[in-house]
Amino acid sequence: MSDGILFKAATLSDGTVTDIRISGATISEVGSHLKGANETVIDATGLVALTGLVDLHTHLREPGFEQSETVLTGTRAAAAGGFTTVFAMANTLPVADTAGVVEQIQTLGERAGYATVRPIGAVTVGLEGERLSAIGAMANSSARVRVFSDDGKCVHDSLLMRRALEYVKTFDGVVAQHAQDPRLTENAQMNESALSSELGLTGWPAAAEESIISRDVLLAEHIGARLHVCHVSTAGSVEVIRWAKERGIQVTAEVTPHHLLLTQELARTYDARYKVNPPLRRDEDVQALRRAIADGIIDIIATDHAPHPLEAKECEWDAAAFGMVGLESAVPVVQTALVDTGICDWARVEQLMSLKPAEIGRLNGHPSSISAGQQAELAFVDPNSRSVFDINRLKGRSTNSPYLGMEFNGAVVHTVHQGYLTLRDGELVDEQIVAECSKLSQHEGLSS
Ligand SMILES: [Zn+2]
Repeated sequence: MSDGILFKAATLSDGTVTDIRISGATISEVGSHLKGANETVIDATGLVALTGLVDLHTHLREPGFEQSETVLTGTRAAAAGGFTTVFAMANTLPVADTAGVVEQIQTLGERAGYATVRPIGAVTVGLEGERLSAIGAMANSSARVRVFSDDGKCVHDSLLMRRALEYVKTFDGVVAQHAQDPRLTENAQMNESALSSELGLTGWPAAAEESIISRDVLLAEHIGARLHVCHVSTAGSVEVIRWAKERGIQVTAEVTPHHLLLTQELARTYDARYKVNPPLRRDEDVQALRRAIADGIIDIIATDHAPHPLEAKECEWDAAAFGMVGLESAVPVVQTALVDTGICDWARVEQLMSLKPAEIGRLNGHPSSISAGQQAELAFVDPNSRSVFDINRLKGRSTNSPYLGMEFNGAVVHTVHQGYLTLRDGELVDEQIVAECSKLSQHEGLSS
């Protein structure tokens, strides 16, 4: 490995200003006035240092859809966004429903070296909602899968959902549900409201999400298993989850940055960059989701990074694909929606985007704080930078971001993964260097 890195005068999420020394893959020392030895010294004055961000909901598209994203390009986008771990959704081709596929995805991540890639296993074979996939084989494989999801599709068969919860409970896994009643959302294009009628687009009722969450929390209670709700988008969903938590049901919930900032009004443009699943909702929903973060009803923020090639988005709204890229924009959007509005401080952001998603995903070795002896997984944010989010900020293969041309506060400046820099001064570190550092760090991990 390198001779280490010394970050000078960084601000931790609790406001403490300190130096941080990294040796090998760990944080070796935290304190004031640390003297540099033969290490790289980086001035972090004014930067907020967070434990590396963890995205529980990323679509990396490989294998099968490499024209949209690959494990390499998607983890480059992750590093640019301050992420050191991404959980990769199972809707690839082949679907990640066997030990072989999840192991392949994990290996591709290790080879690239920009972030830890933790594969998510499909709940049902081929995401077809008919038979349970090889859940046990994936859990026992070298990829040690703990999160299972048919995301993109809902596990709508109640008995299958019950069986999946029973199965994952045996090894402390979790089912991450994409809550969408398929019959209530046939051909749905945007949030169901007066606006959907006005625009002539088929509506997507809030009840299609809320009814599935209601059923699932009851099943989770009955089985005593862990349930995670993906991308909560309505005020009503928040109330169902609040009720379930008050009853002691083991449910956790995520919200995306876009559902914390954007509303259905954007559909007026008929610009398919704003077409997403679940759809952008009313301003009342956005406000309720922000309050749910303040109340602790929503546990984490996850990007639902969903890359699509240009032709899937530059077409009529009805024909366009659902989804937005979101790894690179997550921190600026969260700072704008939550920190600058006084809803969250950085300590809460660290919980929402790093510590809690690591806990839900049972991620081994993730740092619980920035202190000596912890794994060196770090993101440095400049909260005082203000800039227009332009296409150069996108480091993945696709550019379907709804934020292009918008101005935000906050930017990720440096990212450290396993003790080496993947992003420095806002620029990605070269592919060969990162791959070499990753190889060395895995070797160290094996020999120690
Ligand atoms: Zn989804």
